[in-house]
Amino acid sequence: MSTVFKPIAPTATVSDAGPSQGARAPSGGSEDTSVPSVGVMSDAGPSQGAKAPSGGSEDTSVPSVGVGIVLAEPRGFCAGVDRAIEIVERALHKFGRPIYVRHEIVHNTYVVSDLKAKGAIFIEDLSDVPPGATLVFSAHGVSRAVHEEARARGFKIFDATCPLVTKVHVEVAKLHKEGFEFIMIGHKGHPEVEGTMGQLDSGIHLVESVADVAKVQPSQTDKLAVVTQTTLSVDDAAEITAAIRSRFPKVREPKQQDICYATQNRQDAVKVMSPQVDIVIVVGSPTSSNSNRLREVARKLGTESYMVDSADELQAAWFEGRQRVGLTAGASAPDVLVQQVVERLRALGAVSVHTLQGTQETIKFPLPKGLKLANEQD
Ligand code: SF4
Repeated sequence: MSTVFKPIAPTATVSDAGPSQGARAPSGGSEDTSVPSVGVMSDAGPSQGAKAPSGGSEDTSVPSVGVGIVLAEPRGFCAGVDRAIEIVERALHKFGRPIYVRHEIVHNTYVVSDLKAKGAIFIEDLSDVPPGATLVFSAHGVSRAVHEEARARGFKIFDATCPLVTKVHVEVAKLHKEGFEFIMIGHKGHPEVEGTMGQLDSGIHLVESVADVAKVQPSQTDKLAVVTQTTLSVDDAAEITAAIRSRFPKVREPKQQDICYATQNRQDAVKVMSPQVDIVIVVGSPTSSNSNRLREVARKLGTESYMVDSADELQAAWFEGRQRVGLTAGASAPDVLVQQVVERLRALGAVSVHTLQGTQETIKFPLPKGLKLANEQD
């Protein structure tokens, strides 16, 4: 098997294979989060078996040599995505195919194809849904107008909007009743932004950048509040919020920021990982906002970074001369894709996998009513 990675002297051992083997020094990360100070990681060996990449590896007892894959933690599915997919799968199981889903349930090509194969039909326009059908709203949420139209058309509706997006919708509605106008930080055209802005008929102004802040023309500035898309870059959002605060000193900011825990945790993990690797691969679809942000976070830290929808998109040339490949996945990317990337990197010559320690996520959101399966108790 040929390898594109930079070869390491086969006599290297744990004690003599220090960071000089190509890995950049950790930038002040704690011992808990840093890659062991060997040019290679433990846990693996060149086995081509389908070893789960998330097994972690505190064990540095195997002084293997070669190129290492470093897995960010946490990565991949969040609680909102888990819940949204489960809603569609349960609806299919309970009511049979087809189940209609407005917009991609989550922004991931693999997930959408898998659900299509199981009987889901993805639509954008409610007029494409036949009367009496079962309809699921995607995790990104929908506007009030879409809700109302779906109800008027008499569909059986299951709402897979992430509860953390719903929380933003509720806050917007509540403050609107108190007379607030809003500045929303988000990406124009993203379905979550359309859903959140669509909670009101007017009085919500979108900004995508610091430059946009100067252009906002609220009808008053006494009652002005900031809301954000949940999947933004934490750092970019902070910068834009600061610009809003500077122009509108009385602006109300969310008590708890709207950027969700999963977005924050995945970006934090990439910040820890990036300085310790030569290249970062993000598994995610081009439409996935939080996946794009992970790639940007790595690049801003000076680490070359690519996003791939599947292992097939990896290009051998990216890894020439590399010794540590950092790997993460957006909140909508399933672990099977990460495993396939690991296997492809092994085929290119990587010999080990090491999981960085990171925040443990235990959040689980309840399912909507009406999706209990026959063998489940109420
Ligand atoms: Fe919910 Fe955040 Fe996951 Fe989006 S990324 S579904 S807001 S938990």
